[in-house]
Amino acid sequence: MSMCVTSHTATLPTAPTPDVAPTTTGGGEVPAPVPGDLASAIAGLTAAVEQLAAVVQSLQGAGALGSPAGPTTNVVSGGASGAPLADANVPATPVPAATAPVAPVAPAAPAAPAGNPGKQKLQLPVKNATVTSHFGEVSAIRNSIPHTGTDYAVPAGTSVDAAAGGVVKQVSSDSIGGNWIIVDHGDGLQTYYGHLSAQDVKVGDVVTQGQHIGKVGSTGLATGPHLHFGLFRGDDRTKNLEDPQAFMARGGEV
Ligand SMILES: [Zn+2]
Repeated sequence: MSMCVTSHTATLPTAPTPDVAPTTTGGGEVPAPVPGDLASAIAGLTAAVEQLAAVVQSLQGAGALGSPAGPTTNVVSGGASGAPLADANVPATPVPAATAPVAPVAPAAPAAPAGNPGKQKLQLPVKNATVTSHFGEVSAIRNSIPHTGTDYAVPAGTSVDAAAGGVVKQVSSDSIGGNWIIVDHGDGLQTYYGHLSAQDVKVGDVVTQGQHIGKVGSTGLATGPHLHFGLFRGDDRTKNLEDPQAFMARGGEV
């Protein structure tokens, strides 16, 4: 009856229990020592670690773990046929480090002239002007010396504006050019503005294209109000002259 069922149930748990115990301890040898002898357990662990170390050493000796050394040997032997240089190159690996510092040097290359953000077409410094004397013209009034620029007749006081961005290089006067200004546009190209009644900039000023720099007048060797506009390369305003009109006509940039 019910008793039979109970007895069966009691029998089953009894059997499995012993099996579970040994499995948990992992070997059956330790179960006894665990309760009391902790020191011996540690000693056993230490011994195991030492054994492991010994195994690793023996493996290394056998070459099993020597794989890193293997390739090296191959490289050397291969080098016998002329590849030994390859070995020398390997230690030279720091070379890339030298390449790195080169990069930071590059940014330090500011060559753009102040006031001139880039190439721009030279433009007329005065508005509504009439050309009264072309570049290269020869006349008695200049003692037969070819005209060094272009003359633009405009009312006195007319604003003279920078033909392109640049830096004011000279603000001066003499008996021929009267009051004049030179603006440096970079790359050795400079513009000259003569016979001014007013010079409204000073040396070193950074000017942008179209910026007011002075006023038209008739100072120096002039028969009436006009702007003498010159264009030249280099530092001597009497040499390496160019025809401003021709330069602007072909869209010349500075
Ligand atoms: Zn002139």
